[in-house]
Amino acid sequence: MTMITQDARVALDALFERMRDANERSLGYPSAKDFDYSALERFLRFPINNVGDPFADATYRVETRECEREVVAFFADIFRAPQDDWWGYVTNGGTEGNLYGLYLARELLPNGMVYYSEQTHYSVAKNLHFLGMRHITIRSQRSGEIDYEDLRETLKIHRDVPPIIFANIGTTMTEARDDIRTIAAIMDDLAIRQRYIHSDAALSGGYAAFLDPRPAFDFADGADSIAVSGHKFLGAPIPCGVVIARKHNVQRIARAIDYIGSLDTTISGSRNGFSPLMLWYRLRELGVEGIRERLSRSLELAAYLESGLRAIGIDARRNPNAITVVLPRVSDAIRAKWQLATAGNISHVIVLPNVTRPQLDSFIADLAAERAVQGV
Ligand SMILES: *Cc1c(COP(=O)(O)O)cnc(C)c1O
Repeated sequence: MTMITQDARVALDALFERMRDANERSLGYPSAKDFDYSALERFLRFPINNVGDPFADATYRVETRECEREVVAFFADIFRAPQDDWWGYVTNGGTEGNLYGLYLARELLPNGMVYYSEQTHYSVAKNLHFLGMRHITIRSQRSGEIDYEDLRETLKIHRDVPPIIFANIGTTMTEARDDIRTIAAIMDDLAIRQRYIHSDAALSGGYAAFLDPRPAFDFADGADSIAVSGHKFLGAPIPCGVVIARKHNVQRIARAIDYIGSLDTTISGSRNGFSPLMLWYRLRELGVEGIRERLSRSLELAAYLESGLRAIGIDARRNPNAITVVLPRVSDAIRAKWQLATAGNISHVIVLPNVTRPQLDSFIADLAAERAVQGV
């Protein structure tokens, strides 16, 4: 096995040390770290490839599509997809799932106009550019949730164009969730029947189904497709995700591609077969009970952090049932030490299930020490 040079081995060891160190002090990005996939190491020996549709037959047998179908079925179930009318696959992350949802929407409503709030993830504008879709940015409320009045007024102006709503189920900076029922009601009110709603549930999709009250984000609430990241709340060493859509909509695309002789319903040709295995393993390991337990721990510690910050005079805030704590922009030193995502005048901490109370205490102590030095 050890065919690499001494130099390369030293470099690998150094990389490993650096990564381990960085991993211990990261509070700002939405990647859960409480996982152990070592049971799957032996599968790294195979050139796994889930090429093609996970529900169609394939000639290539070094694949994990049975696991993939189980993962897709799990999410279709918790996202309350209509019986026998769902389809999906394991993606390379939330971005691909969002691209898929928008692609599907464009095929169904070629003249559609995409509406999304100004708090939408940066990758979405690029997706729309790829797809050549027209779009309008809607104002956000201070919480980060879409401004429903601005949406209503804008929809009214463009009544002749079918709307494609790109809803945020947990915005990147403040974890605000757009309410799909409210959005659907606005469109009902305006007698807009031809429409499509995609839920970008990259982070929150991992637990939104288990929140009380349950946010309005899924198929029963009116969504036509939902994207979730696998490496965010569930946690994985490789970015991955899941997209779920209504099967009859996907079949309209599949037909079009049948014409060129293929059941190529996914975006990539060759597809990662290792991440479906990881997600399958993770879901089997945690089950719904495990997810619920990790969620309640996160919510509890997020509340703990919020009040701890307030106690030292920092104006921390948190949306209802969010695991993201928002605070005024931190110093560059704090930002670098704790790897905090910062945008404009705010920074945030995402209290994922791996975060511990001592870690938060140490973070709060760093901020308190800095304030003491500054005489605040
Ligand atoms: C992280 C995120 C994305 C992108 O997902 P990736 O898995 O990083 O590709 C999209 N939207 C939101 C709201 C996100 O938080």
